[in-house]
Amino acid sequence: MAARVRFAPSPTGFLHIGSVHTALFNWLFARHEGGEFLLRIENTDTSREVAQATDQIQESLRWLGLDWDGQVTFQLERMVRAQEVAKQLVAEEKAYEDEGATRFRMPDEGVTAWDDLILGAIEYPNEKLEDVVLVRSDGRPTYNFVSPLEDLLDGITHVIRGQDHVSNTPKQLQILAALGAELPQYAHVPLLNGPDGKKLSKRHGANTVEEFRGAGFIPEALVNYLALLGWSYDDHTELMTREELIERFSLERVGKSAATFDYEKLTHMNGVYLRALPPTEYADRLVAYLREQGYAWDEELVRKAAPLVQEKIATLGDFPKFARFFFERIAPEEPLEDGAVLPAVAETLAQIESFDAATIEAALRELADRLGLKPRQAFRPIRLALTGSTVSPGLFESLELLGREESIDRISARGSGLGGASGSSAR
Ligand code: GLU
Repeated sequence: MAARVRFAPSPTGFLHIGSVHTALFNWLFARHEGGEFLLRIENTDTSREVAQATDQIQESLRWLGLDWDGQVTFQLERMVRAQEVAKQLVAEEKAYEDEGATRFRMPDEGVTAWDDLILGAIEYPNEKLEDVVLVRSDGRPTYNFVSPLEDLLDGITHVIRGQDHVSNTPKQLQILAALGAELPQYAHVPLLNGPDGKKLSKRHGANTVEEFRGAGFIPEALVNYLALLGWSYDDHTELMTREELIERFSLERVGKSAATFDYEKLTHMNGVYLRALPPTEYADRLVAYLREQGYAWDEELVRKAAPLVQEKIATLGDFPKFARFFFERIAPEEPLEDGAVLPAVAETLAQIESFDAATIEAALRELADRLGLKPRQAFRPIRLALTGSTVSPGLFESLELLGREESIDRISARGSGLGGASGSSAR
């Protein structure tokens, strides 16, 4: 039988990165096995928030490239079915009415056991399992009832979900057995901790797919990084394409213990992916990202600035701070103590024949030489006057891109007595 798995998020808000981790393992498993990956939304009402979260979940999965098979299904649509099944269980004396609710009759003796594909053999004494509520007194079926019922209806072969659900599994196994179902296999994947060893949460930083997207991470880096949390191919390979991940993924190599989400490592990996993009593709991503984030910067200029930053920034989100000076004037972040060189620089820039990076560089180096200044000494105030910062894309390329007039304007504004840190001339 072909593998069929499901990702069953509750539509409570933006998709949490821990959920995506689970979704990814399901998706990799399904694609590796040539099976199916279903998206099943565990909605229990039709409020506007739920509808919105449902859209966001799908948008996040699409952005990550985690495509699902068939139509999305909604738990709400199976509520009547669940109520009927509960009645039938009552008729069969496998469940009973209790103050208006329907409870499942758990066996009192023996154990419920399964071979978890990640955690190994697990056993629960049945006396520890309470008679779980299947349908509440107000008629609403519970998660522990509808979820396994849906697994049965959908022909799920492998339930791959977070370790926070381990304790639900014996209850769900008993319910499935009572329904005469063929039991799926279970694989409980490690949860994610923040760098401090505590459960990954808002406190640690970006938390939802939307936040990572907003911070300028790209999906291929995020997918690659998430795949390495609790799974490894060997003891050293880290960079893997989507196809390689699919080909190499197996539940056997998923570890048991919680994985640490290391923001720095993700950022580093994102930088590796960004630098590896072909320049045009890189520019496309940057343009799309900035548009998404609401920047109204000139697209042509963004495309021209792109090659100047590609080697230097690790997230697209670094672009606005790093390259803002291309789009507007910025007050220097430090005092311009050594601005005395600037009038001569303005003069040199006015005189050179061609305003391209190579010619600019040669002329400025010669000027520094003539003035007996080390290049670093001479270039620092130019950079500050031009970009407002001591950290910027390449100076000569930046000058070329800003153009002669704008460059000289900025340098003259700084060199003509304004000197200090104040005096922003932002447009
Ligand atoms: N809605 C549950 C969750 O997001 C699904 C658990 C399951 O996969 O059974 O954790």
